[in-house]
Amino acid sequence: MRAALVEADIDALLVSQPENRRYLSGFTGSAGWLLITADQALFATDFRYFEQVGMECPDFELVPMERTFADVLPAMLARAGVRRLGFEADFATFADVQAWSKAAPDTEWAPTKELVIRLRAVKDAVEISALRAAIQLADEALAAALAQAHGGMTERELAWLIESYMRTHGAEAVSFDIIVAGGPNGARPHARATDTPLPAGVPIVIDMGARLNGYCSDITRTICLGEPADPGRFWEVYHTVLRAQQAAEAALRPGMTGQEADAVAREIITEAGYGEYFGHHLGHGVGLAVQEEPRLSRTNTAALAPGNCVTVEPGIYLPGWGGVRIEDIVLITEDGVEVLTAAPKGAIIA
Ligand code: ZN
Ligand code: ZN
Repeated sequence: MRAALVEADIDALLVSQPENRRYLSGFTGSAGWLLITADQALFATDFRYFEQVGMECPDFELVPMERTFADVLPAMLARAGVRRLGFEADFATFADVQAWSKAAPDTEWAPTKELVIRLRAVKDAVEISALRAAIQLADEALAAALAQAHGGMTERELAWLIESYMRTHGAEAVSFDIIVAGGPNGARPHARATDTPLPAGVPIVIDMGARLNGYCSDITRTICLGEPADPGRFWEVYHTVLRAQQAAEAALRPGMTGQEADAVAREIITEAGYGEYFGHHLGHGVGLAVQEEPRLSRTNTAALAPGNCVTVEPGIYLPGWGGVRIEDIVLITEDGVEVLTAAPKGAIIA
């Protein structure tokens, strides 16, 4: 972070975005401001977190707040000798910046974007092992829930089987509200689980993940209870998505851009005649946030680097029929990828 301060030509960075704050300090609480300079690291927070900062953030010095952050900010800046201060322009609100600049009118406020997010995109060994554990827990939860899945159970009941397994096996939370979307519900890529009974013979999209030690997993599988009612269409769509997914996973390597990765899967789906039904991008980074950098999107021209962890999740969504999406997390290595998700990709649940 300190090297990035020099590059961005700022004396300090003010950080309060929760994942950025945790990444830099270790703090797992929900309120606090970091001020990081070339040689100081201050943590302003209120009474609720005084003890927690001492336990979780040994590299930071606590600045106790009685009322607002704007009250303690001028003294922090004076003490750290900050003239030009970077802040998170993609997180701080207009009202925040008004209050801060009023409290410290002589400071030069420099909006920055994605300084910490760029650091977070490359995972170190500790982060990769945390991700592996979160991914493994999601894989196990899915297997346990599918072993109990049956027609007549509602989408929400299946979502709860998955969630309760994760919670009783160490997860702090789900990464996001679990998606279980049967038949036509699955044609909406981010449908929520409803109280509709799971239909037999049609695709059911299940998208879920566990948060464990701060790190998120994210996996999608598409299943069918029993044999598909229209096997021709079902297998054509299913195998097209699977081929696109496997081709992208085989092609990914450092130096490839997000755009090029997206194109590998998109070409296969387009050639099969379903291009207009794959309306989202191929994947996203995953870490402390379930969606972060880098993006495998049609517009990302930045190159992938070893240590990036990204999802690979092509899909085809046919209105009135349903959807098929298959999603793994992969780690970009020195010469290719390691697929971290291990859940099987057979669609049929007997
Ligand atoms: Zn997902
Ligand atoms: Zn995803």
